[in-house]
Amino acid sequence: MRRIRGLFFVVVCACAVLLAVRSSSGDEIAERARKLHFSSIVLDTHDDTTQRFFSKSFDLGKRNPDGHIDIPRMRDGGMNAIFFSIWIDGRIMGPAAVQKALDQIDAVHENVRKFSNDMVFARTAEEVRRAHAQGKIAALMGLEGGHMIGNDIRIVRIFGDLGVRYMTLSHFYNDEWADSSTDKPAHNGLTDYGKEIVREMNRQGIMVDISHVSDKTFYDALEVSKAPLIASHSSCRALCNHVRDMSDDMIKALAAKGGVIQINYEKSFIDQTYKDAYDRATGGAGVVGVLGQAVKECGNDEECIGKAMGALERKMTEEGKLPHVSWERIVDHIDHAAKLVGADHVGLGSDFDGASMPEGLEDCTKLPKITEALLRNGYSEDDIRKILGGNTLRVMEQVERVSRELQAQR
Ligand SMILES: [Zn+2]
Repeated sequence: MRRIRGLFFVVVCACAVLLAVRSSSGDEIAERARKLHFSSIVLDTHDDTTQRFFSKSFDLGKRNPDGHIDIPRMRDGGMNAIFFSIWIDGRIMGPAAVQKALDQIDAVHENVRKFSNDMVFARTAEEVRRAHAQGKIAALMGLEGGHMIGNDIRIVRIFGDLGVRYMTLSHFYNDEWADSSTDKPAHNGLTDYGKEIVREMNRQGIMVDISHVSDKTFYDALEVSKAPLIASHSSCRALCNHVRDMSDDMIKALAAKGGVIQINYEKSFIDQTYKDAYDRATGGAGVVGVLGQAVKECGNDEECIGKAMGALERKMTEEGKLPHVSWERIVDHIDHAAKLVGADHVGLGSDFDGASMPEGLEDCTKLPKITEALLRNGYSEDDIRKILGGNTLRVMEQVERVSRELQAQR
């Protein structure tokens, strides 16, 4: 009896020790992830928060009950570098498009100025690093759609001077010189003028962004550009077959020229089951068609668009038409691209405030979960820092170098 009791005691002790070891190693990874995340430059290349600057109910400096981004939540989530997206509907073209883009560029500068205790405007990788060293959030700008230059190459230079650091060559619709992935081909990729615009972007140090463009436009831009390209907010087609995502061949070609795919968190772009269900439930319109309709009804009123999209999604979910999507799909896409082309060519392009987020990544406060998941998946701390922001900074530096070389030629 005593022996049995003794054995029982030994077994209980051994289990307790094992449990303690397991939980301490679990806590150890969580702690390492926290330290890593909050000491890294966490740079997101695509956020549609800019349109919210025009809403009376939104305040960048306060914790807002809706949306995905504001300064308090960025602080909580360790997100310390952000590309504010300049976006207007792709059906607005010509001088009106330039004017509306200028309104948004001004709104970004005014908001950064207003919250200068927390934020500083950045134009270069060095300025992003300096902001980080000062404990400030680096604010950058990307122009989401070539239609906003009003078919005038000189506007590219002016936008560059105002601090625009990437331009997506098209949005949902073809513009005058580039085909979109979600429109009928009109130019067979980039027109000659489009190629000239890409060269001018190289000269101005503006990153060429191939999210949204047709596959042919991507390959044309890749051939013409003297600097690496980015996909500011696209995911992997191998995991979710959406035209807004990149095929493995495209990701390989992008990486071979030093570029980076910045993974988009939109549910329809990361989860095949969800995308198929959404397409079915909307009679084939899909998220792109529904958004196009919402924009038609709401104009550039992001609040109105968000409400319309959200209400429809809630209705379809309540009717049991849409499946749940976990935030872990984001990690799957990072993993897929990293396994395909290496961790040097993957980054984060959430599409916060412009897309429907998966469960568990409801806003930017949840970003540390991605770092922890990557650490648990065996990524080195170095590789994780690159994915969180280092890769984009590397591309920015290359783009800056190419710009200096091209400027020196004339
Ligand atoms: Zn977009």
